[in-house]
Amino acid sequence: SDPGSQKGQVVTEEEWLQKWETGKIGFHKEQGHPLLQKYLDVLLNGRSGLRIFFPLCGKAVEMKWLADMGHSVVGVDVSEQALKEFFAEHGLPYCEEPVPGISGGKKLQSTSGNISLYCCSIYELSSSIAGKFDGVWDRGALVAVNPCDRERYVHLMITLMEKNCSYLLVTVLYDPNKHKGPPFYVPESEIKSLFG
Ligand code: SAH
Repeated sequence: SDPGSQKGQVVTEEEWLQKWETGKIGFHKEQGHPLLQKYLDVLLNGRSGLRIFFPLCGKAVEMKWLADMGHSVVGVDVSEQALKEFFAEHGLPYCEEPVPGISGGKKLQSTSGNISLYCCSIYELSSSIAGKFDGVWDRGALVAVNPCDRERYVHLMITLMEKNCSYLLVTVLYDPNKHKGPPFYVPESEIKSLFG
């Protein structure tokens, strides 16, 4: 299989917003992801009260799981609709505030304070805005990033990681000549060269 066949693919932010508006969100898992349950111990590594990052979070229910376990969750998505649906579907009250340094960006924070969701492009975030993280749940994130932006994405993720950060990455294996994605096919060798 030739991952090169997807190299030129681009899904614009506008197109992502449209997927949310028209309900074409087949990627959303109502029941949460079994691999997070399976590898939860690896993510937590015996630690409690972690700061956990959800890049390209959508309305991932795993954010609620981890918050309920006492961790503090930060997510980012371009779709305000996704973030509002997350709070609404879990019956969580939240406040909204602008984000200094990100024009048009918003932070939606649960009233309880342990879930903060940024509405902006991930490329506008930095550790000075969002802090650094002890854990990352990357599902539907690296594989959703446009192939041309992978290096930029991974470089940013590395700057958001605390020293002992654990990073759970979910990818998908398929023949990239048969499907155009997203999710895109990211071969293991590329993951190694991206993250070093
Ligand atoms: N991780 C989530 C959602 C996966 S779909 C889950 O597991 O369900 C990818 C999400 O990324 C979409 O919600 C889309 O709106 C968002 N997205 C795409 N490009 C983005 C970008 N540059 N910055 C922030 N969010 C983005």
